[in-house]
Amino acid sequence: MARRLRGGLRLNATGRFAPSPTGTLHLGNLRTALLAWLYARAQGAPFLVRIEDLDTGRVRERFEREQLADLAALGLDWDGAPVRQSERRALYEDALARLDADGIVYPCWCTRAEIREASSAPHGPLPEGHYPGTCRRLTAAQRAEREASGRPPALRVDSGAAEIAFVDRLHGAQRGLVDDFVVRRNDGAFAYNLAVVVDDGAQGIGEIVRGDDLLDSTPRQLWLADRLHLPRPTFAHVPLVLGPDGARLAKRHGAVTLADRLEQGETADEVRARLAVSVGLADDDERPSPAELAARFDPDRFAPPPSGPLPGLWTG
Ligand code: GLU
Repeated sequence: MARRLRGGLRLNATGRFAPSPTGTLHLGNLRTALLAWLYARAQGAPFLVRIEDLDTGRVRERFEREQLADLAALGLDWDGAPVRQSERRALYEDALARLDADGIVYPCWCTRAEIREASSAPHGPLPEGHYPGTCRRLTAAQRAEREASGRPPALRVDSGAAEIAFVDRLHGAQRGLVDDFVVRRNDGAFAYNLAVVVDDGAQGIGEIVRGDDLLDSTPRQLWLADRLHLPRPTFAHVPLVLGPDGARLAKRHGAVTLADRLEQGETADEVRARLAVSVGLADDDERPSPAELAARFDPDRFAPPPSGPLPGLWTG
């Protein structure tokens, strides 16, 4: 669905939450889901759920069921049936074939250790996690040698060291270099960066709301969207919830899932309220419904505090 701007320009505000069913959602994930839902629903737009289950070694069906039940328990609804990435491989194949036809896909045999070593060598240091392009520069003989090793290669794209600029709703103007990132892993699984761009494009997502740990992935994804001629969505990278020790929220921090909180005697309404209070969307003594939160949520003005612990969670 769209919102009409002055001058008749239409902006697509369709949103999504895209959990990986590799664990139970904690309060930080649930707060991100709530915010993604609010950005979409406050603009009267559809909200979709996509199950990012490509990492088959870590995916458990039970987590998918739990995650959907948690969203529903918090009153977050979605349009249509959730889609699963594992059922959409043909779309990723097709995108990969198009990139390959453009001549920008190449095989890479580097191990993690080799990449670490190369990225701190003479031309470095590259930005953390960036691939130095080793396998793009192989001679025919070096390539034949690697092919003969029998070790299956990952597939990377030659990004030409592009630089991508974009504006994040919460972080403002951003600029980032794009390295030759992986589009298919050496175990054959399509990489997150490829699948997420293909799906957001195919599902018509206009408003991407996710944790700010993914801010650094955005230049790669925008570069890929451009290559695949997909429209660029809007981004809001929202703050993460931290534990009392300042580390990202995790199971070891205690009662951090919805089930844990319910077991502690809280209601789902209280949990939702706690999440809303932590980002300035409700007062301490309120228990606003999702619809009430959507009515007061202004996507253009929302300014949450930076990542931090949830107020009141550990102090009673
Ligand atoms: N599946 C990713 C995760 O759970 C989220 C990807 C995204 O929102 O772009 O971290």
